Amino acid sequence: MTMFVEVAFPISSYKQFTYQVPDELRDKIQIGIRVKAPLGKRTIIGIIVSKFSKSDFSGKIKYIKELVDDLPVMDKHLWALAQWMSEYYFTPLGKVANAILPKNLSAKYTPPITNMVSFKSFGEHHEALKKQAPAQEKVLEFLSKQTGAVPVAGLKALVSYPSAICKALCEKELVELDIIINLPDVTGFTFSPIYKEIKFTAEQQKTNQSLYKKLSANEFSSILLHGVTGSGKTEIYIELVRKVLSMDKSAILLLPEIALTPQIAGRFRAVFGDKVALWHSKLSTSARAWTWKQICANEFKVVIGARSAVFAPLKNLGAIIIDEEQEHSYKQESPAPRYHTRDVALMRGKLHKAVVVMSSATPSLESYYNHIQGKHIYLRLNERFGGAPYPHVHIVDMINEQEETGKYQDVISGILQRKMEERFAKGEQVILLQNRRGFAPILRCGDCGTVETCKQCEVALTYHSHGRFLKCHFCGYETHQISTICNKCKSINLKLLGVGTQKVEELIQKTFPNISIARLDMDTAKSGKSLTRILEKFSLGETQVLIGTQMIAKGLDFDKTTLVGIINGDTGLFLPDFRSGEKTFQLIYQAAGRSGRRKTGEVVIQTFNPENPVIKHASRLDLKTYYNIALSERQELNYPPFSWMIRIEIEGKNRELVASTSNKIKRSLSRPFRGLEILGPANCYRERLRGKYRMHIIMKSDKTYDHNGLKMHKYLNKNILSGHWNKTPSEIRIHIDVNPVSVL
Ligand code: ADP
Ligand code: ZN
Ligand code: ZN
Repeated sequence: MTMFVEVAFPISSYKQFTYQVPDELRDKIQIGIRVKAPLGKRTIIGIIVSKFSKSDFSGKIKYIKELVDDLPVMDKHLWALAQWMSEYYFTPLGKVANAILPKNLSAKYTPPITNMVSFKSFGEHHEALKKQAPAQEKVLEFLSKQTGAVPVAGLKALVSYPSAICKALCEKELVELDIIINLPDVTGFTFSPIYKEIKFTAEQQKTNQSLYKKLSANEFSSILLHGVTGSGKTEIYIELVRKVLSMDKSAILLLPEIALTPQIAGRFRAVFGDKVALWHSKLSTSARAWTWKQICANEFKVVIGARSAVFAPLKNLGAIIIDEEQEHSYKQESPAPRYHTRDVALMRGKLHKAVVVMSSATPSLESYYNHIQGKHIYLRLNERFGGAPYPHVHIVDMINEQEETGKYQDVISGILQRKMEERFAKGEQVILLQNRRGFAPILRCGDCGTVETCKQCEVALTYHSHGRFLKCHFCGYETHQISTICNKCKSINLKLLGVGTQKVEELIQKTFPNISIARLDMDTAKSGKSLTRILEKFSLGETQVLIGTQMIAKGLDFDKTTLVGIINGDTGLFLPDFRSGEKTFQLIYQAAGRSGRRKTGEVVIQTFNPENPVIKHASRLDLKTYYNIALSERQELNYPPFSWMIRIEIEGKNRELVASTSNKIKRSLSRPFRGLEILGPANCYRERLRGKYRMHIIMKSDKTYDHNGLKMHKYLNKNILSGHWNKTPSEIRIHIDVNPVSVL
């Protein structure tokens, strides 16, 4: 009997293709196995979606060439997840499979091993051994005095051929040989294990019990864990995972960026040892493949990682924890599928009947709203561990400040400077947040106002003083040729304006020449290792000030930091995006949370808009009031979480073509249903990026009429399938972004 299969490829077509299976492969064919098959003139890898014995396809049916895997690379839950993602995010299944699976699962990787040896007994012929094999005796004698196993290679100082000698001893059954597998690439990304004695407070205990109850129910539940900064959320995760393992289940811990939170990984390592796998982008292809297969083989029970760890092929999943769930790095922007890790985690939790814990001191407005709507269980931690009070917050009105001092260029206010002096005198540490890297964001002509911009992206280039170059932070373009005259009016009056982390560093160094400074931003933290080193040095007190972008605002836990300065609280506040207020609030609140985690700390927020509700409520650490204001604003404009949003971006090199295609698509989206709004087409905020013009159409579907967003989904699907969109010119790219985190 002939066998047919349907194969999905990682291409942008929604079609799946039918193939025949050669007889010799028939027994091995299963859904979820990857195969090589001819497509057009090429042979590419795809994944088997279904198999059947009859095909009503009338043309000539080609044969698949060979199998890539001998076992399905996804179990039924992951497979169901992939299918859901394909539909939900309007992405062909083959592309989704690509996002989930490591590139090459058959890449050979042998993790480094260490040979270990330990003492067993002196045996019956100890005296004889002394005479016949003195080297063996010497090793045996040494081992008898050790408490456990030692590395064989470590015996080199004792004898010349330790491995041969240990082997001989092992044959006589006097010692035992063993191997330790060293996990790939782990060391660079974590602090060493951090051991701690934990005694839970009453509030923490209550939380633990609630989580345990949900876990024991063996059914899906979604939980919003809202705990103030320093309330011990990490310890709560550890306790939950402990319970998960005791039930013989497994767990995933998702972190916004694994390298930024080495302390959390370090704590997990101390408690769970080598049951923990780290999953991150810096693992080599082969180490990834190895880790994936080890997870499949049940060798790891806990996976810690950034967004793609949500796909870790763990069996019997009991819990998924999402730390700092409001973080935008949980959203994959490109390539498709443009998924949000939180939504995928919730869906995966449903499939596995697991608990999904969304955790934060500043939940996303979405999750907060869902909790108010009764969609999540809400657990609250109100107290900082150790009873440290909230920091005192001072707002500095930079307009008044500058009028008083007359120094309009001042970056550091008098108050902030004085407070820093006080802290240094006491041997305490300071964190300064400046959410812009580089030296001065822009180079502007003092006469005509022209700003030096990137030719590809039309955004201002940032000046970097180390190495003296201009850089575009969107496309990465760099130039060392910095002109000294204005391109437009030929004036020589060029000025560096604005403040980046490098400039703050320079100013602090000038003011406090004896203080050592660490700077943390995308420029200094290129590799995970250098990042960890910067953080470790600060935690050991080798540096006194840590200056950084938003990278320093979250998750970090330093005992001696008692002052946090926010150089410009207004950064990002006025970007034309419906989430800019929420984002700024969360950043200030989180940064403030780094201060005084053991004893009373202070926060200084410098702002030009002290009356702005975001700044005002953030400075009072009054989350509830601000969230209520933000929610009523969103409701008024029918933005998420009150509506579902889908953004269609049209991108291409030719401006007219982008515009005409956008208009065509808009016209094809006629006859909307009640509660659906279609905005645009309009130019994106960053109209040109990487040399391409960008326009977008934004669809909003009111939740009152479209309860779960299905109406809009169906509607859009029908339009895509109707074929209108296939006729778009080939140089135009259309991206569909479901639940975009930003419309910039
Ligand atoms: P959060 O993630 O909520 O900001 P952390 O989990 O980092 O807070 O906890 C703050 C600090 O307090 C950490 O150093 C943590 O180890 C410690 N801590 C929290 N709870 C306890 C506890 N019950 N016993 C001992 N130390 C604790
Ligand atoms: Zn000029
Ligand atoms: Zn650019």
